Order: sequence, then C-alpha cells, then structure tokens
Amino acid sequence: MTQAPIIVAGLGGIGSAALAAVARRGVPVIGIDRLEPPHDLGSSHGGSRIIRAAYFEHPDYVPLARDAFQGWERLESETGRRCLERCGVLLTGGPKSEVLRESLSAAARHGIVAEEIEPDDLRRRWPMFDVPDDHRGLFEPDAGFVVPETGVAAHLEVARRHGARILTGLEVRAIEEGEGGPVVICDGRRLEASAVIVTAGAWTRTLLPELSSASLEPQRKVIVWCDSTEGRGSEIDSSRMPAWLIDDEGRFGDGVYYGVPAHAGQVGPSGVKIGFHGPGPAVDPEDVDREIAAEVTARFHRDVSDYLPGLLEPPHEAASCLYTMSLDQHFVIDRVPGRSGVVVAAGFSGHGYKFAPALGERIADLGLGLDAAHDVRFLGMSRFKG
Ligand SMILES: Cc1cc2nc3c(=O)[nH]c(=O)nc-3n(C[C@H](O)[C@H](O)[C@H](O)COP(=O)(O)OP(=O)(O)OC[C@H]3O[C@@H](n4cnc5c(N)ncnc54)[C@H](O)[C@@H]3O)c2cc1C
Repeated sequence: MTQAPIIVAGLGGIGSAALAAVARRGVPVIGIDRLEPPHDLGSSHGGSRIIRAAYFEHPDYVPLARDAFQGWERLESETGRRCLERCGVLLTGGPKSEVLRESLSAAARHGIVAEEIEPDDLRRRWPMFDVPDDHRGLFEPDAGFVVPETGVAAHLEVARRHGARILTGLEVRAIEEGEGGPVVICDGRRLEASAVIVTAGAWTRTLLPELSSASLEPQRKVIVWCDSTEGRGSEIDSSRMPAWLIDDEGRFGDGVYYGVPAHAGQVGPSGVKIGFHGPGPAVDPEDVDREIAAEVTARFHRDVSDYLPGLLEPPHEAASCLYTMSLDQHFVIDRVPGRSGVVVAAGFSGHGYKFAPALGERIADLGLGLDAAHDVRFLGMSRFKG
C-alpha cells in the first residue's frame, strides 16, 4: 500500500518552509493554499523582515535564530535567490528600555557578537540618527533582514524540486478524522493524509477552533515607506543605514518603531520601510480594511523623524499586514491535543518569519511523528493549560 502523504495546509511564510523541509526528506507531501503564495493578504509580504539573534522576546529563541541564519544561507545556495542581507541591526533605547536590557542579556548569555554603544558614538557612526543623551545602542553586525516574498517562492521551488505537489487556489474547509489518519476536506475533494500540518496564519482559528485557549487573534498592522529628502539618498541605503528599532519607553504607547533601509533589488515600494511593533486592532482576516488613514501615516513619519531628523519625506506608500497573536506572544508549535496526526504552527505574534527555515525543519519532525526538538518545546500547547 502506498503511504498517504503529509498535507501542509497554508503555504505562506512558515508553511512553505515546512513543505520544503518535508519534501527534502523524500517523504510524499502535498501543500495546499487558498491563494497563490507569495501574496499580500496574509502575514508574509512587505519586502523585508528583520532577523537578529540577540533576542529580547525570550532567550530560548537564540539557538533557533542561529539555525535560521544557516537555513537562509542554505536556501540561497539551493536556489540562487537572495533572501538575506546582513546590514546589521541597531537597537536604541533609554535607561529603562526592556528591549535593550533583554537584548544585551541574550547577547551576553549566548556569546552573540553585539556592541553596546554610547550615544556620542552612535551619532558619530550613523550620523543620520539623533538619539537623546540618555539613550544607548546595541549593534548586532551579523543581523539584518530577509525578504519574505523571495523566501516563500524559494521554499516552494525547493519543495517542488523534491517532489512536493502544490495545489493553490484551493481552500481547506475542514480536517476530519478518518480510519487511517486525518482527512483534509477541500471543495469537492477528500484527501487522506498520514499527518496534517496547519500553517494557516491568521486563518488558523477557522480550521482549529479548539485552539482558542492559545488565543491566536488576528490583528491588523500598518507599514509605510519613506524616500529620503533631496540629496540624502545614500544615507538610507543598506550600505550605510542598518535595520533599526527604537524603544522610547512608552513614548509611543505600548510598542516600538522599527525600520529597514532601502537596498538593491528591493521588493515592493522604494525607500525605508517603517513599522510599529505593538498592539493593533483585532480583525476578521476575511474582512480587513486595507485603507490606511492619512493621520496614521503622518504619525509614523512624525514620531520617527525625531530620531532621523530631516532625513525622510512623508510616506509615499502604506500597506496593511496581519499579526496572529498568541496569548503570551510566543509561537504555538505542537501536535493538536485531541486530534490524531494534526500539527499546528501558528501564533507567530509579529516576530516569526526570520525563523522560517529553522522552524520548517522542526515542524517537519512533528509531522513525521518524531519527538519535538528540545529547542521548540517551550512553544508547546501545554503552557496554556488552565
Ligand atoms: C507588518 C509586519 C511586520 C513583521 N515584521 C517581522 C520582522 O521584522 N521579523 C520577523 O521575524 N517577523 C515579522 N513579522 C511576522 C512574520 O511576518 C509572520 O510571523 C510570518 O510571516 C507568519 O507566517 P504564516 O505562515 O504564519 O502566515 P501567512 O504567511 O499569512 O501564511 C498563511 C497561509 O495560509 C493560507 N491559508 C489560510 N487559510 C487557508 C485554508 N483554509 N486553506 C488553504 N490555505 C489557507 C493563506 O492563504 C496564507 O498563504 C511581521 C509581520 C507583519 C504583519
């Protein structure tokens, strides 16, 4: 009897990496997406995602980040596509900045190459930045950004090359329990599987409503792009400007601004991409308002211009994108309790894409019935019990 394939439901940032990881192992695998990835209606678009190893969110992510850097390089050599640019990442914050404190601690604990920088030195090395005198910096020179659209396309290319079947424009409606394993119900089709990996991003709750204890709340986020002011184009280029993150201790509400410099071969709009990592409005992923109010883009420009004085024109482009927030803002990667052969990888809470190649391997392990790797056990469902 031929072995039923593993089915990956959702081929965005994380699902495409999981599909490639399963396919590389020579196991029959089918990937399904309701849209045509890479697309701009989920969480994996906008031309760039910051990647760094000195992780303030939780030090247990550091080994995964290290593995992810290698995974991106491997993907580049497999496909010849450029996914990763190591322009460095500069974090800056005041004396009470948790982002700075926790990043410094992760760097020290894990021996990550990172420099602590005094404000005078920061202004001298990156003259486009002006920070208050009580701010410090942390510069991680090997960090930078990855390009999600290229990453998704590259992972799908590798998966295809290793024999994966990819079905796009097909929606998974339900996952049922069959006699020999889970059965995926799509429009007009019933597909038997040896295991199902659900990587449906903001739509995960629709397919697995029982995961409500983890929350998995879709939120709408805004990103904007700003060109440089006249004659200052070279200062916003990745050869001079690192990716950056500013934590001004509550001045911007409960969140931080971040930016990715302009760069050669940029995917999407030109200029510096700016986002705000913090709470956003909860949304139904089927009904997202894609209009962006002028006052929102103006606020991004005004807030950031205090740190990059006179450097940026007002935003010439804006877009929306979805976060899927878990209850504690850490990822949810596990077998689904009470369902045989179903694995979930969701709740990436606005910081998951950098890890895609590393997570793809660990999600593939779970799909193949292997034990969860020790470095992702902290992301399991058991933490939500009670
Ligand atoms: C503005 C913004 C900035 C971010 N910045 C960073 C950053 O700097 N660094 C970082 O590491 N991360 C960042 N993130 C987070 C990161 O991008 C996400 O964590 C990651 O892309 C999530 O990928 P995903 O595969 O879960 O979701 P998606 O990429 O959205 O993929 C889900 C896929 O599932 C498909 N699907 C859904 N339902 C079904 C169904 N029923 N049947 C078939 N297919 C289905 C969808 O069509 C979609 O293609 C950011 C996110 C946003 C929005």
